[in-house]
Amino acid sequence: MSGATPYRRAFSHSIDIDAIVAGDARLSFEQAMMLYREATLHDLGRWSTAVADRMIAKAYPDFPKQLPGVRTYVIDRNINYTNVCSARCTFCAFRRDEDESDAYTLDQSQLHRKIQELVDVGGTQVLLQGGMHPGLPIEFYEDMLRGIKAKFPTVHVHGFSPPEFVEFVAVFKLDDLPTTPPGKSKQLPADLWQAKLEAIMRRLQAAGLDSIPGGGGEIFAEAVRRRIGLGKADARQWLDVMRCAHRLGMFTSATMMFGHIEGVADRFHHMQFIRDAQDEAIAQNFRGRYVSFISWPFQRENTPMGRLPDYDLESSEPFPGDQLAELVYSGQLDPNDKVACDKALPGAGKVVRLSGAVDYLRTQAISRLFFDNIHSIGSSWVTMGPRIGQLGLYHGATDMGSIMMEENVVSAAGTTYRLDEAVLCHLIRSSGFTPAQRDNRYQLLRIHDSSGGSAASPDLSVTDWSRHRFATSQSADTDAADNSVELTIDAK
Ligand code: SF4
Repeated sequence: MSGATPYRRAFSHSIDIDAIVAGDARLSFEQAMMLYREATLHDLGRWSTAVADRMIAKAYPDFPKQLPGVRTYVIDRNINYTNVCSARCTFCAFRRDEDESDAYTLDQSQLHRKIQELVDVGGTQVLLQGGMHPGLPIEFYEDMLRGIKAKFPTVHVHGFSPPEFVEFVAVFKLDDLPTTPPGKSKQLPADLWQAKLEAIMRRLQAAGLDSIPGGGGEIFAEAVRRRIGLGKADARQWLDVMRCAHRLGMFTSATMMFGHIEGVADRFHHMQFIRDAQDEAIAQNFRGRYVSFISWPFQRENTPMGRLPDYDLESSEPFPGDQLAELVYSGQLDPNDKVACDKALPGAGKVVRLSGAVDYLRTQAISRLFFDNIHSIGSSWVTMGPRIGQLGLYHGATDMGSIMMEENVVSAAGTTYRLDEAVLCHLIRSSGFTPAQRDNRYQLLRIHDSSGGSAASPDLSVTDWSRHRFATSQSADTDAADNSVELTIDAK
C-alpha cells in the first residue's frame, strides 16, 4: 500500500495501518496491543469505520448507492426459560437455586405468549437461554423447540449458549452415552464428550434449533476465567461447542465480557482464539460460521465480582491483571498452574478495573480491525446506553442488535436500557446511516429509506420525539423480574 492515504500514523512498532484498513493485511496480537496503548480514539474510530464500511459494501453489493450506508438491527426476544442454574458466575445476579422462592421455569403456554407478542411487532427471532438447569431432560428441550416450531414455523430459534451445551453433555441421559455429575463433564474422555455433544446438538437441531448464541464467552484466558466463571465451560469446551455447530451447518455469534479483573492483553488473546476458529471453519468448508462479534463491559451491580474493590486509576502500581497477563504471554508463567499464578501475583483477581465509554469504544474499534473474517460487530447499547451505543457505530459497529423486548440477565446486574424499534432506527438514521431490519443471517428484510417518509419506517412515523415514549412494542411482562425503565429520546 502507498503511504498517501489519510490513515498513516507513526507507531512505536511496525504496522501498516493502511493495509489493515484495506483488508490487505491482518492485525496481529502485538499490533492490537500497540494500537490500544498508542492510537488515539479518533484514529481508531476512523479506521474501524472504514473497515465497517468495507465489510458492509461486501455483504450488500446491491444496496442502493444513493442511500447513506446501511446499519442493521434485529427484532427478537430474549427469553430466559429458566433462572435455575448450577453455575455460580461471580458476575451474575440472575441465577437461582431450584428451591429459592423466585426460581422459575417457563411452561409452553408462557413461552408461546411471549413469542406471539414478538410476532405481533414484526419480530423474527427468539433468543432462548437458561440458567443451566441440572434437572431438565433432553426431552424437555425437544418438546420446547418442537412446540415453538409447530406454532411459529417462521420464527428463528437462536438458543442455548456453549455453557448450556456443556451442562447438557453432563446431565442428559442418552441411551448409549454416559452421564457425569453436573459441572464435571471434563471427566468424560474427549472422544466420548465430543460424540455426546454432537448427538445432543443433532437432536436439538432436528427439533428446531436454528443457531447458537455466543453467551458465556466472557474471557478465554485461563488464569482469569477460572476466577470468574465457576462451573462454566472452559475456553476449549466453548470453542468445541461452536466448532460442532459450524460443522452441523449452524451459524453462531461470539462474545467477550471485559472490564473486570482481566489484563488488556487477555482481550486480544480472546479475539485471537475466535479468529483462528473462524479461519478453521472457512478452511474446512464448514456450512456454519461465526457471523458476529459483540463485546461489552462487565456490569457490577448485584454481582459477587462487583463487590471487589476498584483499582485506583491514579495508582502508580500497574493493574494486577495486566501484570499477570504479561507474565503469561511472555512465557514466564503457565496460566493453567493455579498455584503458580496465585503465588506470582496474589493481588490478581482481587480488584476490578471497570471500563467506561472510552475503553469500550477503543476495545470495540480494535475488534473491528482484528476480525477480518467475521461480518458483523455489534454495538452494545444494552450495557453502555443508547448514546454510547450510537457512538459505537463510529467505532466499528455495523449492527445495533435487538430492540430487546425482554432482557433479564444483564438487567439483573443493574443495566436498565430498553429501546423500541422507532428509537433504534432514529439512533441509526441520526448517526448518518440507513436503518434496516435484518434476520439472523444478516440478510436485509426491510430497508428504511427516508426519501418518502414512509409510515413503514418506524422512526419516520414519529412526528414528535419529545412525546414518543417506549410503549409501542412492549407489553407487560409478568413472568420475570423487570428492572427496566422507559427511555425517551430527545427531539433532534
Ligand atoms: S451467568 Fe448464566 S451460567 Fe453464570 S450463573 Fe448466571 S445464569 Fe448461570
